[in-house]
Amino acid sequence: MAMCDVGQGDGIVVRTTAGHALVVDAGPDPDAMDRCLDHLEVDVIDALVITHLHDDHYGGVVRAIRGRALTALYYSTSEESPPREVTEAAAAAGLEAERLTSSTTLDLPQIQVDVLWPTGDTVPSEENNASAVLDVVVPTPDRSVTLLLTGDIEEDAAAALLAAEPALAEGGVDILKIAHHGARNGGTAVLEAIAPSLALISVGEDNDYGHPHPVIIDALARLGIATARTDELGSFTVEVVGDTVEVRTLR
Ligand SMILES: [Zn+2]
Repeated sequence: MAMCDVGQGDGIVVRTTAGHALVVDAGPDPDAMDRCLDHLEVDVIDALVITHLHDDHYGGVVRAIRGRALTALYYSTSEESPPREVTEAAAAAGLEAERLTSSTTLDLPQIQVDVLWPTGDTVPSEENNASAVLDVVVPTPDRSVTLLLTGDIEEDAAAALLAAEPALAEGGVDILKIAHHGARNGGTAVLEAIAPSLALISVGEDNDYGHPHPVIIDALARLGIATARTDELGSFTVEVVGDTVEVRTLR
């Protein structure tokens, strides 16, 4: 998988088969996500998931699909309908953007994706808390690797997620995308409960929000969780080889 340096925002790529990928969010900047997908040689986006409808997650969506095949486009939101960029991107691919819920099945080659949040019939009224949370299982030659993508969920949604999905804390997760760019309001409950071996933070260098917050960084250090950040590494790839997880800057 890879975390693209999209500045202050999210853009995540999980390879499915050669030239194909699941893309989760497309950053705020049209160029950054497109460039990253070029570097990763992604020609076909099997599914593009916009976790929630804030610009730092969907701003690059139109360019991300230009010149690439797109098979499905999903979004989660507390709003009535998606913004123009999202409907345009879907229309350009001859698709309709589909609202994601915990009963949505993403049919992808090689990898398994479960939508854990939003759960049930009620979507949280706060947009960050309406973020789609995806549990991704990637097979590797030795074992399956689990990846939890949390969008920008905040503490209250994180607590509800852990209560709704006890298997997360019981089974743990190998790799966790820290929620909300490491903002304080993302809380530490998820990382404490699931004890990942690697945490990922997507955040702009010298951003105006003070992300990531020292409370989050301190918790990661206290728990001895290795952390990879886009503001420090730029775009990077994560590969699991045997028992080790290798993080490499994408050049
Ligand atoms: Zn965000």
